Amino acid sequence: MGKVYLTGAGPGDIELLTIKAHRVITEADVIIYDRLANPEILKIAKNGCEFVYVGKEDGRHTLPQDEINEVIYQNALKHDVVVRLKGGDPFVFGRGGEEGAYLYERDIGFEIIPGITSAVSVPAYAGIPVTHRGVAVSFRVVTGHESPNKETSQIPWENFKTDDTIVFLMGLHNLKKITSKLMEIGKPKDYPCAVISRGTTNEQSVVVGTLENIVSEAKGVPTPALIIVGRVVELRDQLQWFNKK
Ligand code: SAH
Repeated sequence: MGKVYLTGAGPGDIELLTIKAHRVITEADVIIYDRLANPEILKIAKNGCEFVYVGKEDGRHTLPQDEINEVIYQNALKHDVVVRLKGGDPFVFGRGGEEGAYLYERDIGFEIIPGITSAVSVPAYAGIPVTHRGVAVSFRVVTGHESPNKETSQIPWENFKTDDTIVFLMGLHNLKKITSKLMEIGKPKDYPCAVISRGTTNEQSVVVGTLENIVSEAKGVPTPALIIVGRVVELRDQLQWFNKK
């Protein structure tokens, strides 16, 4: 039986891969990867390494999580070194916990290799610090996947009245609902926010706006993209660096 490495691939820029992730990728007998892991990373694998893609294909949605769990498990029965490569960090909206638990129940050894999460690094490449002395004393990373109008919403919207930074992942398709909800709880219409698309890559684009106009400003922006809401967005005027490279 092999060992599974639940490995973070970082946000896009392949130089943001950790040294540890780099090592296990070069040792891997099989790499199970999805849409968000930069496929350039696969080039560092050894000859003969197998690649299994479990992301979206031909308009078909990602494999259901229980099927992915089973693919990882079956590969661990056949190979010594199994790398499960995921975008960003495996435990930040990456379902790495579910994969680890599935392996635990089947007595398969695993290690977690944290990755640089998009939640912090993508704003950084846009020149937006998620905390800043005197501006934001904390930041939250929130799923944008859940529709704020749902009766069952688990998101504590009422807590978002402060100036703490909010980063929404998986939220581009709900941008209008999210910004409307934030104005509904009392945030000003001209409150700063930004949408950052394909962050840390050569295709990075940053749209800065307000809660009121970001929906029209960010129209047509490609995924993956995150939404950042907070006064820290204004610091980009001084801290923008990536596009100047
Ligand atoms: N585990 C990942 C997040 C998975 S959820 C991590 O730690 O980064 C997927 C969401 O992450 C996307 O919908 C998007 O909101 C965000 N995301 C991932 N990579 C991104 C990138 N390069 N630029 C902008 N957003 C990104």
